[in-house]
Amino acid sequence: MIKKIVISSENVKFLDKINELSGETVTLCDQCGVCSGSCPMISEMDITPSQMMRKVQLGQMDVMDSKAMWLCASCFACTVRCPRGLDLSKVAEALRQVKLRQAIDHIDIKKIPENEINRLPQIALISSFRKFTG
Ligand code: SF4
Ligand code: SF4
Repeated sequence: MIKKIVISSENVKFLDKINELSGETVTLCDQCGVCSGSCPMISEMDITPSQMMRKVQLGQMDVMDSKAMWLCASCFACTVRCPRGLDLSKVAEALRQVKLRQAIDHIDIKKIPENEINRLPQIALISSFRKFTG
């Protein structure tokens, strides 16, 4: 049975917001899947990069519940190969920004054991806080 998708003004608003924040036109994505085939992080992701784009095209805000946007390493492997010239890393960044602006951090320093903090490279911690906290 074909699932019916209803697109509301809220969905359109969400798409517009991601387009605005990312500077990309997500509707240009033709779902070719080249990004998913190029992504070095895909084995860890719960949805593929092309699925992330599709969800944004449809304004499906549950895309922000996915691990994929946090796992995008901004490596640009997809960006250089996208036939539509889209920069998916900017889309992932825009999604993270929307979530972080709701004051929902992705990591909590208080939950990281002290021995872990001492063991981890400080530069990795700093870049993590930049990426995962608002
Ligand atoms: S490579 Fe580009 S056009 Fe193809 S699915 Fe990914 S974002 Fe869309
Ligand atoms: S920029 Fe992000 S989505 Fe694109 S290939 Fe790299 S990790 Fe994957």
